[in-house]
Amino acid sequence: MLRDAHNRTIRDLRISLTDRCNFRCFYCLPNGEPPLARKETILTFEEIAYLSDIFVSLGIEKIRLTGGEPMLRKGIVSLVDQLAKLKPQLQDLALTTNGHELPRHAQALKSAGLDRVTISLDSLDRDKFIDITGVDALDKVYAAINAAKIHGFDPVKINAVLVRGRNDDEMIEFARFAREYDVAMRFIEFMPLDSGHDWSREMVVPGKEIHDAINAVYPLKLKESSRGTETAWKYKFADGAKGEIGIIAPVTEMFCGACSRIRLTADGQIRTCLFSTTEHNLRDFVRSGASREEIVGFIENAVTKKEPRHYINDADFVQPARTMSFIGG
Ligand code: SAM
Ligand code: SF4
Repeated sequence: MLRDAHNRTIRDLRISLTDRCNFRCFYCLPNGEPPLARKETILTFEEIAYLSDIFVSLGIEKIRLTGGEPMLRKGIVSLVDQLAKLKPQLQDLALTTNGHELPRHAQALKSAGLDRVTISLDSLDRDKFIDITGVDALDKVYAAINAAKIHGFDPVKINAVLVRGRNDDEMIEFARFAREYDVAMRFIEFMPLDSGHDWSREMVVPGKEIHDAINAVYPLKLKESSRGTETAWKYKFADGAKGEIGIIAPVTEMFCGACSRIRLTADGQIRTCLFSTTEHNLRDFVRSGASREEIVGFIENAVTKKEPRHYINDADFVQPARTMSFIGG
């Protein structure tokens, strides 16, 4: 069991498969690919599978593959296949993607053992979608949502980062979309993890505002299972309509006290918080020929260093050097 110094149990691992992306979301990676970590610095699938096996033996129950855009990594289906072998101790194997490459692989991913998929979608309007992501791919994302549904991913989750003046006028449209297409919307507050360093507090649309706006049109009912160690407050529609609304408000309603997550970057660094300013170089330790037992010790030690909370709201907050597409959202 992985336990940190603040008595939190770590059960959730997010693995970034690459820091590259084919989108240019202004809140994440607006200026294109960062100086790309060279191929040999990136963990191989064998290394990821080996480390995942160790993490699961230490009590990790959920693994989410993310990035950058994880589907840019060739052979992702074979990785999912290997990770699925860690079930049933591994209870949940999920993927977060921008959806661009999903339709071609949705069926194979499902067959390989992927349990859940989250697709990012920040606007339902084609021009605004282009403005936000830098690509004309709204149709592709709709196709991804359809493919995910057809191949039995249930529920399909949709992530939308709401940003003041960019897409905050679409909350109700998104809620209607959730009802019509029976998807689980997740509205996420904009965090200071953008590579363009344009984040400002004024751009954050508070979770409470999102809740109140939707609740006024489509009354919401808090789900009984809501929260625990999860990041989202989850709501059903009070009128019994299909779909779900989730609100993730790390900036205005910090949930660090219940955090159960750690992250592994594409280049093999353990990050104990999205906002960590230090990393633990697991890749080099593994490549130095460390034994399984030594790797266990390395991971346990890194977890004890997990930060008590983030400091976004402190006057002396410093944005971490590595931004979202490196860390893995
Ligand atoms: N490329 C994939 C995607 O977009 O779904 C996976 C990686 S992306 C970094 C994971 C999630 O992080 C996405 O839903 C994205 O919207 C979110 N994200 C990226 N930058 C963010 C930021 N600055 N604040 C809040 N969420 C952010
Ligand atoms: Fe790429 Fe996802 Fe970041 Fe958008 S949010 S730039 S799709 S990694």
